[in-house]
Amino acid sequence: MSNETEFWKSLKCYRGIDRETFLSEKWQVKNTIKNREDLVFFLRQELPQEVIDDFTLSLSKNPMQIKISPYVLSLINWNKFHDDPIRKQFIPLFSEYKKDHPALRLDSLNECDDSPVQGIIHRYPNKVLFLSNHSCPVYCRFCTRSYMVGESTASITKHRNVAMPKNWHDAIDYIMMNKNIEDVVVSGGDAYTLPAKHLKMLLTELLNIQSIKRLRIATKSLSVLPTKFLADDDWTSAIIDANNLALKKRKQFSIQTHFNHANEITWITKRAADFLFDHGIKIRNQTVLMKDINDSFDKLKNLMDSLVNINIEPYYIYMHDLVPGSEFFRTTLKSALELEELLRGSTSGYNIPNFVVDLPGGGGKRNIWSYRHYDTKSGISIFRSPVIDKNKFYFYFDPIVQNEEKTIDVEAFSQANLDIIVEKIKHKKIEELR
Ligand SMILES: *Cc1c(COP(=O)(O)O)cnc(C)c1O
Ligand code: SF4
Repeated sequence: MSNETEFWKSLKCYRGIDRETFLSEKWQVKNTIKNREDLVFFLRQELPQEVIDDFTLSLSKNPMQIKISPYVLSLINWNKFHDDPIRKQFIPLFSEYKKDHPALRLDSLNECDDSPVQGIIHRYPNKVLFLSNHSCPVYCRFCTRSYMVGESTASITKHRNVAMPKNWHDAIDYIMMNKNIEDVVVSGGDAYTLPAKHLKMLLTELLNIQSIKRLRIATKSLSVLPTKFLADDDWTSAIIDANNLALKKRKQFSIQTHFNHANEITWITKRAADFLFDHGIKIRNQTVLMKDINDSFDKLKNLMDSLVNINIEPYYIYMHDLVPGSEFFRTTLKSALELEELLRGSTSGYNIPNFVVDLPGGGGKRNIWSYRHYDTKSGISIFRSPVIDKNKFYFYFDPIVQNEEKTIDVEAFSQANLDIIVEKIKHKKIEELR
């Protein structure tokens, strides 16, 4: 969107909202919809009752609390509500659900087992995640960390694994004591919801640790509440100050964000990204590959180009994790391999993201094409991850095609069956496995 259209005015609710108000972060936060009742009230003005019933029914299965900013609501094409790529990510419909994959576990990446102290996930030798809080400016219905992010829902009681300010010191002590840790990703939840004073304290403390060479902060705010960066408030200053401190110490500092579709990028996003660029702050993007949202060459290419044009570097494209109530979002490894093949070479190499799968069971992120074995029929792929465990095999599972006649063959995904497959491939050379 090059011209600065007042796109929110196509919604009945926001027709009377002027530009200054819509661009105010305070107004955005105050008018963020935070529960089912408020969303139903909002939907009533735009949609017929049967769609609203479809939404309310979905709440029994939705793993995430409802939370949507006016900005995100304004990006939805309400005339194509059902197929809209942004609606799909934030407003669940019961009619979309498919049965969860039998191999699904709530904490599918096994983060809790890699958590030596509250709020730290230490899976790789020299980098850690610092989970600073459990809330976000909006909630994505497919969140990988749905085991802990947001409030409990009808289907999930959340497990709290965060280093809130009151017990930060255990997490920071752990990082200080483990001198091999060089890279910290402050995540959550979303660092956006940390009070500015805490954010500033945390980033300064981390940058002052001598062994820390790289610091990243993960926030989705750029894609769901870019108005955050238009006002020069304390929170934004905390980020700018951290970047300046990092520069002074010759350390790397960056923001990691999360865009999944080109429609999420507006002239407001550009203003926010320009603001950060002007302050010399590097932004990288992570995208989740999602069926009918971005799983085509044109859509991905459009998203990547739109990001690059506002100086956001495409970093990763993830295979969708196994998340409760999200089976219909997942795509096969085969289709991702084809997309990677099409995308690579289509622009500057450093603007082509790596396609990765974060392996269930805690194998970490691996390039999708590094599988040792992939049976497209059963949809089972097998990877190794020597840096995590050189003796272990990790599995990823394509979504199962589901229709009324075909039920899920749970047997195929039992541990005993997977052990047999591993035995068969264990002694073969890589070439023979392909
Ligand atoms: C993703 C992730 C990181 C950071 O990984 P990069 O590949 O360096 O972006 C660190 N720790 C954990 C547990 C992660 O999941
Ligand atoms: S912003 Fe990130 S952590 Fe928060 S709900 Fe979305 S995917 Fe999960």
